Amino acid sequence: MENIDYPIMVVDDSKSIRLVMMKILNQLNKSDITFCENGAKALDLIKRKQNHYSLIFVDLNMPEMDGMALIRELGATQFSGGVVIASQMERRVINLASEIAKKNKVHLIGNLKKPFDVRQMASILEKYNAFSEHSAPAISMLNADEIKQSIENKRLIPYYQPKVNLNSNQIHSIELLARIDAPGSGGAIAPANFISVAEDNQLIDVITFDLLKTAINEYPELESEIGDFFTLAINISALQLEDLSFPDKFDAAIADSDITAEKITIEVTEQHALKTDKQLETLNRFRIKGYGISLDDFGTGFTNVGQLLNLPFTEVKIDRCLVTGIYDDEFSQVVVNSLIDLTSKLGIDLVAEGIETIEEMEYFLKFKALILLQGYLFTKPKPKDELIHWYHSWKKTVLENC
Ligand code: C2E
Ligand code: CA
Ligand code: CA
Repeated sequence: MENIDYPIMVVDDSKSIRLVMMKILNQLNKSDITFCENGAKALDLIKRKQNHYSLIFVDLNMPEMDGMALIRELGATQFSGGVVIASQMERRVINLASEIAKKNKVHLIGNLKKPFDVRQMASILEKYNAFSEHSAPAISMLNADEIKQSIENKRLIPYYQPKVNLNSNQIHSIELLARIDAPGSGGAIAPANFISVAEDNQLIDVITFDLLKTAINEYPELESEIGDFFTLAINISALQLEDLSFPDKFDAAIADSDITAEKITIEVTEQHALKTDKQLETLNRFRIKGYGISLDDFGTGFTNVGQLLNLPFTEVKIDRCLVTGIYDDEFSQVVVNSLIDLTSKLGIDLVAEGIETIEEMEYFLKFKALILLQGYLFTKPKPKDELIHWYHSWKKTVLENC
């Protein structure tokens, strides 16, 4: 992903800044860059080339049309790429900018501080990659028959990735991520290669309940090895929430097992959920029945921190696009700080996902009583036996360091 040369626009009235930006972006192998000296010119180009630009860097203070007005106008043109504010800002201004972007349905993904440098820019590009992964079409999709066969042949399996609590050094929850086993191919097939086809071919419920069944069977062993009380988190598609009887199907699926609704968290992605009344009704029904419900990928949609007050979630997961390089990005810090404030007041769980580096983990350590962490730094998603193996060595390490 990092080496793809997608179209970038830089909007800044200062020629010297435009030159600095060109040099830095070139150093990171980005060469498809358009420069504009004000918002009006930028907007004109964007309108003429609908959906062309992937990422736009906007200075806030410019003559003619300033950065705020440009963000508002981008919303009106339904610009679907990422926007980065490239200027020094006070936290209050960042807050306001992010509210305006949300209101106008613009994806603000970060803030570049002056003086601009390569390291900061690399981190912003990585955030953009994380953001664009959510809408990127996969290269080779399985077809519906291949998916059906995989399920029939018991090749659909859950991989597990923990959400760790660094305050208690316990596993808080284990997320199920769908994989199709592909022996001989050097790895399992990722959800990006089959979930959307399954959604289009009425196979998504089969996938959910097949995975859940396997996870229920594997839970006793996981529980006896891992010991801590943890919940199982399962991802569902927004369209499954359109089915008002979906929570009843969950009840039926767990009826003959030791798993209760309280041990299950339903993860639903912010980008596609919360659009219809039916979705909200189904979420509420899950909640009433005792299931946990988690707002996944927070930061990729347009939910305000304030709106969370009125939604029935028991957990919020901060998307990787806000987590990557957070120690350096005031925009992400402002959003995450207000989430920490709100979720701790409401008594709901907060998870930072996509932790890959020690620096990212260290940033969150000061809030470790208020936030759970998940990411490759701890472990990639793994099949049951490998997860158990990982758990024992992780536990040993944390206990030795206590
Ligand atoms: P998600 O629910 O947001 O899951 C997180 C994804 O990020 C997973 O990708 C995980 O492997 C990956 N990840 C975790 N930690 C890191 C990290 O530190 N760095 C990076 N770069 N990535 C990390 P995966 O397993 O490929 O799943 C992709 C998406 O597919 C999931 O995103 C989820 O939305 C969807 N999905 C997975 N299983 C199911 C399922 O059973 N049903 C439905 N409807 N969707 C599913
Ligand atoms: Ca998830
Ligand atoms: Ca997520």
